[in-house]
Amino acid sequence: MENIYNYTLPKLEEYFLSKGEKKFKAVQVFEWLYKHRITSFDEMKNISKITKEDLKENFKLETLAVLQKQEDIDVCKFLFELSDGNKIEAVLMKHDYGNSLCVSSQVGCNMGCSFCESGRLKKVRNLEVSEMVLQILEVEKMLGIRISHLVLMGIGEPFDNYKNVMDFISIINEPKGIDLGARHITVSTCGIVPKILEFMNNGKQVNLAISLHAPNNEIRDKLMKINHAYKIEEVIEAVKKYIEKTKRRVTFEYILLQGVNDSEACAKELARLLKGINCYVNLIPYNETSHLEYKKSSKEVIDKFYNMLKKEGINVTVRREFGSKISAACGQLRAEG
Ligand code: SAH
Repeated sequence: MENIYNYTLPKLEEYFLSKGEKKFKAVQVFEWLYKHRITSFDEMKNISKITKEDLKENFKLETLAVLQKQEDIDVCKFLFELSDGNKIEAVLMKHDYGNSLCVSSQVGCNMGCSFCESGRLKKVRNLEVSEMVLQILEVEKMLGIRISHLVLMGIGEPFDNYKNVMDFISIINEPKGIDLGARHITVSTCGIVPKILEFMNNGKQVNLAISLHAPNNEIRDKLMKINHAYKIEEVIEAVKKYIEKTKRRVTFEYILLQGVNDSEACAKELARLLKGINCYVNLIPYNETSHLEYKKSSKEVIDKFYNMLKKEGINVTVRREFGSKISAACGQLRAEG
């Protein structure tokens, strides 16, 4: 039996139509699920008994088990258990502009970036749509808050689970559903070029972030396995097409790793690479993890790198550091307890 949270509104409409029912039923059910947050089908007051029985026969209304919640001042990490026993994490960040949730898209990850903790566990499977949707619903319920921003930057490569990620976005963006504005949703990819090109035609104003992390192939090849498949020039070319088509600004994420990609020469090369592209660069101070050898660049080096990019006319910010105390920071999430 399928979990009802896997269904987008159009898919649920199709379901009702196939049963000879009115499409509008789907809207009603959606509102019960996402506006009223029911926990059993019986709570759907304006739905006929027959329909409720039919839904009970055909769908599960099942949530995620929360195994652990770790809180710091402005960040909260959740460990969820999926129905097959696999585990994933999500992280809530409290910004002054709202609550941002970082969700996982896969159990494990096959991208094999050498600096990332999340990739130490190889991909076990893709997350179902419902398993992404429920990360939001559960966090909102547990903390009694509304999430205003969503980033697909947890465990996994969203573009390696493309169809489910797009259905997930459809559900959370749906005005009759969670109604999270597309401009408040960001998908981050390590650079799967064909999917960037597919994504540019999705018609929504969802933000795209690219994990670049290097100014050239020589360095990127060492850090990111995906660069063997899609070279940096191909990624940049795809991003240019994306911008041309969507007129939206793209974010490049760039982790600063001591002695690896943080030199002045790297900053200059990066500026040359990105010159004239409607983008901004988000410099990420590396979060060290006990299993990996990379070191974080010093504050001085980060400032220097930042200033060089700025001088070259690149829009640049340094990412605020969140949650390193509770291992909730970028690249520290893993699929185990
Ligand atoms: N697979 C997607 C989504 C994950 S996003 C992607 O690669 O974009 C997680 C972000 O955190 C990525 O930019 C990743 O490169 C970065 N990251 C990984 N390990 C990190 C670490 N230890 N410190 C800081 N950032 C890290």
